[in-house]
Amino acid sequence: MTAPWSPDLPERALDYAERGIPVLPLHGKLPRIPAAHTPGDPLYGQCKGDCGREGHGVHDATTDPDQVRAWWRRWSHANIGLRTGVRFDVIDVDGPQGRRSLERFLADHAGGLPIGGPRVRTGSGAGWHLYVAPTDLPDRIGVLEGVDYRAADRYVVAPPSRHSHTGRPYVWYADRGLDTPLGEVPPALRERLTPRPAERQQALAPARPAEPGHPYGRAVLAAETARIAGARGPAQGRGGQRNQVLWEAARNLYNLVAGGVLDEAQVADQLERAAGDCGLLRDEPRQTQRTLASARKVGMAHPRGVPERPASAARSPQRPQQDASHHPPFRPRDRELPAER
Ligand SMILES: [Zn+2]
Repeated sequence: MTAPWSPDLPERALDYAERGIPVLPLHGKLPRIPAAHTPGDPLYGQCKGDCGREGHGVHDATTDPDQVRAWWRRWSHANIGLRTGVRFDVIDVDGPQGRRSLERFLADHAGGLPIGGPRVRTGSGAGWHLYVAPTDLPDRIGVLEGVDYRAADRYVVAPPSRHSHTGRPYVWYADRGLDTPLGEVPPALRERLTPRPAERQQALAPARPAEPGHPYGRAVLAAETARIAGARGPAQGRGGQRNQVLWEAARNLYNLVAGGVLDEAQVADQLERAAGDCGLLRDEPRQTQRTLASARKVGMAHPRGVPERPASAARSPQRPQQDASHHPPFRPRDRELPAER
């Protein structure tokens, strides 16, 4: 029998880097380098490597051959993560459901033409990664049922990594390796990935929006992701509470995305990282993605802006509103908020 890992991982990691694709070492699907910041650290979920240390997930990814050699000398069995949104984006098709919905979408909206370009069969055995020319469009979980779009600040697991559950390798399809010209996102799918001005306008109506990255939004993001990362799993209590916590926290954050307070790609990234930290992504990857997609749908339908007293609200975003005077309707104070774009 072959080894449970592929012996040429170090060499292949270097090969990707030499093609100008930023790589990072993975354990299964998660970053191999221990996180520089953990829940409770004020930089948790905020720092993208400015502190100078390693341990910032996708932000560690590099094309520096010396760094790549050093990582794979240290962890010769590490899976390979490729950063998306740089040399390519990836359409991540999850299992038979994802394949069905993509095929149906292409039949209905793209003349049935398949998406060309490099193609990976994922280690789960049933999924595809379709490598397409970068679009600069934002990342989107659940753009179709069972289909995610991986773009800026995300990564995919690349051949010859092995799936941690099945032990099977990710493989390039015959004649569909990285030398194949990249595929193109069909116009109908591109349209679906494009944030709609009309939706945004409607979403912003209930409150004067702040710029994404508003201090209130950042504080809520840090608090909610810390809550997810610290949620109990089944081992620590019957059934565990992680999925429920993840759903609530994700819905709260997507309320703020819909209100223009937080950036969607950043929220998706941080939610996935927190779901990894509490073990959910490892234990129940598909259920976790479904939970996130559901929370996004509900959250985006109910925009929320910045409250009148951001400081107190940010300390406990979960506190129920005791009375109307406690959280009066938000009124913009122009001098204190960045101008609306
Ligand atoms: Zn840092």
